[in-house]
Amino acid sequence: MMENDGCIFCKIVRKEIPAQIVYEDDDLIAFNDINPAAPVHFLIIPRMHIASLMECEKTHQAILGKMLLLAPELAKEQGCIEGFRTIINTGRVGGQEVFHLHIHIIGSKERLPAMM
Ligand code: ADP
Repeated sequence: MMENDGCIFCKIVRKEIPAQIVYEDDDLIAFNDINPAAPVHFLIIPRMHIASLMECEKTHQAILGKMLLLAPELAKEQGCIEGFRTIINTGRVGGQEVFHLHIHIIGSKERLPAMM
């Protein structure tokens, strides 16, 4: 399924509801979490509707790789210079509340060392 009418993240993809988008390309969108758990907290999602990691198939290998590789790139841009947490909740039992695959990127805004 490419899109899901009732899905809140598909609505963000279609720009039907606002989000603070930090990155987008033909395959992925990243936006700030509406209820941040830390100073840096954004989500990376595929544009296509995939409900969760449990619904992923071999055909999704490239998009999954792209999502993971984007994580450190954007985390650094957002100020997580030395590290960050990545979380993927899968299924109700796994704490998933929005059933459109997403990676949480969570961290702090670090200060760059003072220039000598
Ligand atoms: P959990 O809430 O347990 O982290 P998920 O892993 O499904 O469950 O995460 C869904 C995330 O989506 C939550 O962190 C929530 O704050 C965020 N969220 C829900 N609606 C929006 C929205 N409209 N814009 C941005 N983030 C949202």
